[in-house]
Amino acid sequence: MLTGKHKNTKVRAHANTVGVAEVKIENLMALVAQEKEGVKIPDILVERLKPFGPRFVKVEAPRPGDKRSGKAPVERSFQNHPFEADDPSLQEWLAAGGNYGILLGQGLGAIETDTKATTEKLESYPTFTSRSGSGRGIHALFRTDATENGVLLDPKTGKNLGNIQVKNKIIVGPNCHHYTGGTYKIMNDSPIAWLSKTQIEEIFGELVSWTGQRRRELEQQAGEEAEQIGFAIPLKDLIDLSEMQIITNGEYQGSHPIHGSETGQNFCVNTEKNVWHCFRCNSGGGGLMWIAVKHGILKCHEAQKGALKGEKFIEALKKAADEGFDIKLWDERFTSRYAEKSLKDIGLKKKDVKIDQIAASIILDEYLKSQSIGFV
Ligand SMILES: [Zn+2]
Repeated sequence: MLTGKHKNTKVRAHANTVGVAEVKIENLMALVAQEKEGVKIPDILVERLKPFGPRFVKVEAPRPGDKRSGKAPVERSFQNHPFEADDPSLQEWLAAGGNYGILLGQGLGAIETDTKATTEKLESYPTFTSRSGSGRGIHALFRTDATENGVLLDPKTGKNLGNIQVKNKIIVGPNCHHYTGGTYKIMNDSPIAWLSKTQIEEIFGELVSWTGQRRRELEQQAGEEAEQIGFAIPLKDLIDLSEMQIITNGEYQGSHPIHGSETGQNFCVNTEKNVWHCFRCNSGGGGLMWIAVKHGILKCHEAQKGALKGEKFIEALKKAADEGFDIKLWDERFTSRYAEKSLKDIGLKKKDVKIDQIAASIILDEYLKSQSIGFV
């Protein structure tokens, strides 16, 4: 027999289900209505951006409920051909319900962030600022001497808290539509203020991580990885480059194959330097690091110098061997930590063998063979 309590639970659950459905239909209706109206670039924004030359880019229209929609530029070489606000083809695009973006670079930057701690730091800064269509995030425009993009990362978890965009990036502009049915709105229409690289570092402290600097570290790290394994596991054999945009010789940019991208541009691969770089997490490395991320041995944001060691390193090597790469185990770090376990597994004791690198390598090969891992 149902008690009153049970009945109430049932009624509440039912009401919730109806509530969710209603919100979705409302979103859909709002988006349909907005599409009819089109998007208007605010006059004040046009005025504020005038000193920077043409800065507008066509951005795809959002699709209801699809959180990855409504933010990516529609033209592949958008960086090279930004529009003036009154350009007829841009106006036609906006009238049909398309969104627009503001192209950053050459002295114009933006910080976008949506966590409480970081938005509070930015909200008080007197510059042109808008609120994202979700109602949570803010976008602040500024003039700057910073020449490389950056991210705001939680120093403990490595999670992305925001992006510092100063080169070849866009932010979605005010009056654009959001997939939730919301609209991007101007919060502060002040002139675009100066915010130097040093000031950014002062405001956000240890959260700031510059991508150019990280990229150089990643290239070095990818080189060390290749040295350690004996060759570079080619990224072009691991990542489908056909969907990515060629930026320069050997440099490809596109959507992160594992955790995706809202803008379709958060991931790059350089096939000549054999390095990958995720801009959202400011992480990356060589082929083995990619294999570790692809197989869930490391989360993307964990792919940092020193992360692939010990058992995780061995696990990644095993996966590399599974994928058909000619992996020979050769690492000083194995000898102390793993040789003993390997010896035990094949019925020997440490005192029976003098463990130098060669012996350890042979033992490990034997061990891995005995584990049917398929090493040659
Ligand atoms: Zn990532």
